[in-house]
Amino acid sequence: MEHSRVVTAALVLASVLCLFPVSHGWGEDGHFTICKIAQSRLSDTAAEAVKELLPESDGDLASVCSWADRVRFRYHWSAPLHYINTPDVCGYQYSRDCKDEDGKEGRCVAGAINNYTTQLLDYTGSSSRSDHNLTEALKFLSHFMGDIHQPLHVGFASDKGANTIDVHWYTRKQVLHHVWDANIIETAEERYYNEDVEGLIDAIQQNISSEWADEIKAWETCSKNQTTCPDIYASEGIKAACQWAYKDATEGTVLKDEYFESRLPIVKLRLAQAGVRLAATLNRIFGTSRN
Ligand SMILES: [Zn+2]
Repeated sequence: MEHSRVVTAALVLASVLCLFPVSHGWGEDGHFTICKIAQSRLSDTAAEAVKELLPESDGDLASVCSWADRVRFRYHWSAPLHYINTPDVCGYQYSRDCKDEDGKEGRCVAGAINNYTTQLLDYTGSSSRSDHNLTEALKFLSHFMGDIHQPLHVGFASDKGANTIDVHWYTRKQVLHHVWDANIIETAEERYYNEDVEGLIDAIQQNISSEWADEIKAWETCSKNQTTCPDIYASEGIKAACQWAYKDATEGTVLKDEYFESRLPIVKLRLAQAGVRLAATLNRIFGTSRN
């Protein structure tokens, strides 16, 4: 009796959670892809530090890449750190836009990337001491570097990054934000990659070493010797949101092949940039040279 009541309660809770999905970044596969790409580009020194900080996963970034989404109920303070809202304009300014709903400055995904990067600069080796939990700092940084590259994570305040725009993804009812978190990636996997995220990762890695090869240096570089430069990533994000995500996707629109085929290259590009920049940032934090 007691048991079945617990089961019933769990089922009710599960269905309530399904009714109110809260979107907080690329889905599992998006974050996994970004961290796999980053891992393949770590310097020996950075890979060593990552291994030291992530002993349970033996230094595998991809397995902790969605951790920040799983702890957002436990760490409710972290919810605003997954995104940026602009005042419904196609440009981003740190001083104007990087704050939470209470107006607290720096409480946005760009501020979080700066903050966790600074914390990780305390790391000096296996015996290093810091006032911060550097394992959590690394997990947050790996996740937020992904989120800031999802175009609708730098979106308009009035529609909460397209979380209030109802569209159809082919025949399925969906919010536009979720289309960019997960649906475009899932449809690509179904259609082109044998329903396998590894196929998508391989395709992006190939683009990185061929058609995007000349751009990689520019993606990696920050001006003025900065360790990371999220303001650049955020500015690109809101531009892509206006140019590709919001465009032709107003309330009630049915999105299908034309939208999918033209937006998939943007999704792949943003996943690639996130992975390359996560690695470049970690390489600058932990060591100087690429192996
Ligand atoms: Zn997130």
